[in-house]
Amino acid sequence: ATANIGVVGLAVMGSNLARNLASREGNTVAVHNRSRSKTDELLATHPEAGFVPAFSYEEFAASLQKPRAAIIMVKAGRPTDAVIDALVEVFEPGDIIVDGGNALFTDTIRREKAVRETGINFVGAGISGGEEGALLGPSIMPGGSDESWVTLGPILKSIAAVAEGEPCVTHIGHDGAGHFVKMVHNGIEYADMQLIAEAYDLIRRGTGKTPAEIADVFAEWNRGELESYLIEITAEVLRQVDASTGKPLVDVILDQAGAKGTGAWTVQTALSLGVPVSGIAEATFARSLSSHPEQREVSRELPGPAEGLTVEDADAFIEDVRLALYASKIVAYSQGFDEIRAGAAEYDWQIDLGAVSKIWRAGCIIRAQFLNRIADAYDETPDLAVLLTAPYFVEALGRAQGAWRRIVSTAAGAGIPAPAFSSSLSYYDGLRAERLPAALIQGQRDFFGAHTYKRIDKEGTFHTLWSGDRSEIEAEDTH
Ligand code: NDP
Repeated sequence: ATANIGVVGLAVMGSNLARNLASREGNTVAVHNRSRSKTDELLATHPEAGFVPAFSYEEFAASLQKPRAAIIMVKAGRPTDAVIDALVEVFEPGDIIVDGGNALFTDTIRREKAVRETGINFVGAGISGGEEGALLGPSIMPGGSDESWVTLGPILKSIAAVAEGEPCVTHIGHDGAGHFVKMVHNGIEYADMQLIAEAYDLIRRGTGKTPAEIADVFAEWNRGELESYLIEITAEVLRQVDASTGKPLVDVILDQAGAKGTGAWTVQTALSLGVPVSGIAEATFARSLSSHPEQREVSRELPGPAEGLTVEDADAFIEDVRLALYASKIVAYSQGFDEIRAGAAEYDWQIDLGAVSKIWRAGCIIRAQFLNRIADAYDETPDLAVLLTAPYFVEALGRAQGAWRRIVSTAAGAGIPAPAFSSSLSYYDGLRAERLPAALIQGQRDFFGAHTYKRIDKEGTFHTLWSGDRSEIEAEDTH
């Protein structure tokens, strides 16, 4: 046995991760793929990596030093289960199986429980950063036991991205914690992308600037408080000219957004936990709306406002859009962190929210300067109930809210969809409200279902005899 780490699954992510591992001092990497061709190709194209190829699981196990550690990078779902089953057959107690794919965290909880019974350690690790991240340094979100982290920690630290001298990996928590946090990362990514898209759309329709000119706006924004990978690549995409038509590429790309499901998981999980991640939800639904051409086709003639968008002062408008984007982004992150907090409470994970924001500063898709501010907020107040109430964000929101309100009302008036901008603002105002119309909802619930209500002026649970004399009685608490 010569290898200290193995990779199973040599498609885009696995092969790049294997190369990343092999490039680090002291690592010898065993590789295996279901179909032999991918292994052969990787060996042929990267002889410098010194890979130890294995063409069966027995060979793979034999090539790994004990305790064995292997990272699975195959299609999420049943393929992952198939590979885990095969590895459990050939591994021994104390060995470590890492699933680096995009597993649903509840699958990870189930798998960890089943694998643990064999004495083998199972670690679900979220890995973000796509192909480039896998090769040059991803952000890694491992769950699993403390025992596995002892062996795995140094290996993962050696391949992770580095932000301000710190590796972008931390032991998130037990069993499914890593995949849970990766899921929310992707949800936030959906929101961030949708907000940027809304900003682009408003600027384009409001000022008539070309995509290349708007690319300059984003490049400029990338030098300020919005500095992030997604803003940076937005400028690149907008600047791209289509070779066959000579048009901006963004104008020839079909406007139907795809999704692989992690945004939907984030929203479904949030619904179960009762956490209002409205920005992420709107972003996910906006992709769904875009992908129904038949519905959009028959809806094109629906009445809209008589007046389109006219902007007097383009620079002032663009600055308003920037501030609206920044404020909505703060909301999206605040909601995402709220979901992680609620998930940790529900599944009994000890998640350090500041540490999570720090490992997202490099390697992953939502990497941004801004995450330092989130880390500061949790450093100062670890049990912060709502992230956006941290002093830094209160100041930023105070500075942005006027522009944010102008943009949301301008968009509504001109009939331009801005679902993530406007839902984020509604969330913000909902949180701020002294009284919410939830009181009326409690009244309605009590009317039709005798669901009872509480009063602001005395303890207890009450019900009004709606179909009787409408007097109030004390009732059993049925929520
Ligand atoms: P794919 O998700 O396309 O999966 C292809 C790999 O899965 C191949 O190695 C394939 O083997 C293997 N495979 C499929 N079915 C089986 C099976 N039944 N038994 C054994 N192996 C099987 O590869 P990616 O590299 O794109 O992604 C790998 C994982 O990483 C996925 O879970 C993905 O969600 C996650 N991920 C992907 C990112 C990306 O940017 N692509 C980013 C972050 C995470 P074969 O060659 O024999 O078909």
